[in-house]
Amino acid sequence: MGLRQRWGWLTTAVALVLAVVVVIVMGQGSGQQTASQSGPSTTTTNPGPLTPAGQATPAGPTPTLPAPSGAQPAWMHKLRPGEKPPQFILFSFDGGASGAHWSRVLPIAERTGAKVTAMLSGLYLIPDRESKEYTGPGHPTGTSEIGFGGSDADITSRVEYLNRALADGMEFGTHYNGHFCQGVEPSVGSWSTAGWNSELDQFFSYLREIDGKGLKITPDMIKGGRTPCLEGNWDQLFPSMKSHGFVYDTSHVSFGVTWPTVDRGLWEFPLPEVRVPALDKNVVMMDFNFWYLLDGAKEGDDARAPEFTPIVLDTYRSVYQSVFNGNRAPMVIANHFNDWAGGAFSGAVEQFMGETCDKPETVCATYSQVIQWLQLQDPAVLDSLRGLPAAHN
Ligand SMILES: [Zn+2]
Repeated sequence: MGLRQRWGWLTTAVALVLAVVVVIVMGQGSGQQTASQSGPSTTTTNPGPLTPAGQATPAGPTPTLPAPSGAQPAWMHKLRPGEKPPQFILFSFDGGASGAHWSRVLPIAERTGAKVTAMLSGLYLIPDRESKEYTGPGHPTGTSEIGFGGSDADITSRVEYLNRALADGMEFGTHYNGHFCQGVEPSVGSWSTAGWNSELDQFFSYLREIDGKGLKITPDMIKGGRTPCLEGNWDQLFPSMKSHGFVYDTSHVSFGVTWPTVDRGLWEFPLPEVRVPALDKNVVMMDFNFWYLLDGAKEGDDARAPEFTPIVLDTYRSVYQSVFNGNRAPMVIANHFNDWAGGAFSGAVEQFMGETCDKPETVCATYSQVIQWLQLQDPAVLDSLRGLPAAHN
């Protein structure tokens, strides 16, 4: 069973979610945006439970990471008066387990100096024959929406390419395990803190187990994650994340590109909802959401890659221009390692990385690097950055 087949299952699951759930994403969570902000018509997505408009969630204490050790890049410093922040771009890849994708991303990263983050799906760390080691909260033992890690040979090669990515300075977070989105109940949006604790305990047990096979990614390196389909009840999830040593989440949605905030004790890096210039429609800037907008995430549309890639690439370029010339908020680009629509979305993100990460005043960094940069800044400076209008393309 190949990864391609498993992504097929994932596609079906997510399509179901998007087909049955229509949620307006503006104002989600932050209480800073309101639905009165107008824009082109919005496509469907599911950012998880919405916080009622105007009801801000408590920030809680700001979590910290140890200061970076060793030689640091020149941009890792406290802003001087009047100095603009670097334009951070956070590339992140959910699942994280594809040698073919890493073999394309790592050379681009090496050439441009980019660092990226992969959100590992824990089940790709155990072979299919050990599927009984997983019990998703409320689900039968050995079931998953994205399959398991394949053969022992698959695991062996995975250890090798993940170690290579780690050695190249890439970061790893979690995309959790079973990928149970709305429609496959009990889905992650209904899980209690106890359920999330079970999910994360199992994730870390796989990470410890594969350690015996030579993987150099250790549990203490995992500092954050992205939930399946961006779903979850944050009041239930965040306590579990914090008790597992996490300092950030990147599952929320913002209208336009906004600065990270501290939400209930975690750094929150929201995915922006942006405009797709070619279609004059809005989309949450994630690969699947583009695909759903373009043709309803249709299987068998591989021939349309030459049509889709420029539309997505043009969107990235336009968002980058707006944010670079605007509030300079970190730009979160969230993709999966996938071959949807003939690789249209992987092609767009790889091309954008290659042409952008070595531009002046632009830094393609991991989540932990950006958090370490944020920690160096005067809190009043961060407050003023957060007070700038969201960047809209
Ligand atoms: Zn996913």
